[in-house]
Amino acid sequence: MSQERRYSFEFFPTKTEAGHEKLMEVARQLATYNPDFFSCTYGAGGSTRDRTVNTVLQLDGDVKVPTAPHLSCVGDSKAELRELLNLYKNAGIKRIVALRGDLPSGMGMASGELRYANELVEFIRTETGDHFHIEIAAYPEMHPQARNFEDDIANFVRKAKAGADSAITQYFFNADSYFYFVERVQKLGVDIPVVPGIMPITNYSKLARFSDACGAEIPRWVRKQLEAYGDDADSIRVFGEQVITEMCERLLQGGAPGLHFYSMNLAGPSLAIWNNLDLKR
Ligand SMILES: Cc1cc2nc3c(=O)[nH]c(=O)nc-3n(C[C@H](O)[C@H](O)[C@H](O)COP(=O)(O)OP(=O)(O)OC[C@H]3O[C@@H](n4cnc5c(N)ncnc54)[C@H](O)[C@@H]3O)c2cc1C
Repeated sequence: MSQERRYSFEFFPTKTEAGHEKLMEVARQLATYNPDFFSCTYGAGGSTRDRTVNTVLQLDGDVKVPTAPHLSCVGDSKAELRELLNLYKNAGIKRIVALRGDLPSGMGMASGELRYANELVEFIRTETGDHFHIEIAAYPEMHPQARNFEDDIANFVRKAKAGADSAITQYFFNADSYFYFVERVQKLGVDIPVVPGIMPITNYSKLARFSDACGAEIPRWVRKQLEAYGDDADSIRVFGEQVITEMCERLLQGGAPGLHFYSMNLAGPSLAIWNNLDLKR
């Protein structure tokens, strides 16, 4: 892990034109902080296909921050994935986040030809050689559908060795889980950078719901404190900033190769942490 640290912000494509304009404003503001890249999520099964493509091309072309599209394989055929890869390659996109994805409930069974992200990584390498820097997802607290932790680690190692260049983690609030994960996969011969995904805390009930679904544990002392604040949004914000800033300090001091902010399409919460950490570039 000799590279310089890298910092990035993630967005999701919006449903409305007004939302899209707001997202572009946020992106322009974040661009002034000189991040290494932006990324933009992709709804599995192609549910945000056009919106993801348009957002990626605009962030990359107009806002002028290199932007990585997320690409998930469940629900998309190889032909559809190939088409997207060629579109991005021809547009000069150099980085991609390769995922299995989760089909939204109601979309039925996965109909794609690739079942797991390791197969997508192999597919991207076969189709486009070394053109893309491939990011993969990592789960320091275990993917919620994994049979067990050992199995999940083995699956991550297989996915990394399929040709990934680096990984971004699911968010977590326990730095030890990250350090343990990195140590385990390094012992198994994976030395790609594993960049912590950082979720700013802004709202307790939403965060609790989301964390349950994606398997991120909110430590009891954080949960109890957030519950005690009730509707007091300012106190939640101040406490959340402090907790996340301190965790990021520990991560960076412990050798984390950068940070990836789940911006939730907002500038303020990520920038508060960025500024606390004094990440001027
Ligand atoms: C940084 C980041 C960005 C994300 N962006 C998006 C997005 O844009 N769109 C979206 O829909 N979702 C996104 N997600 C969520 C992600 O798609 C889900 O967590 C999904 O359930 C797993 O995707 P994966 O790529 O990690 O899958 P995989 O690595 O394929 O793992 C999925 C599960 O299958 C198991 N597994 C893996 N390989 C095998 C194998 N060969 N055989 C048997 N079991 C296996 C794993 O242990 C794990 O339990 C993102 C997650 C992260 C961390």
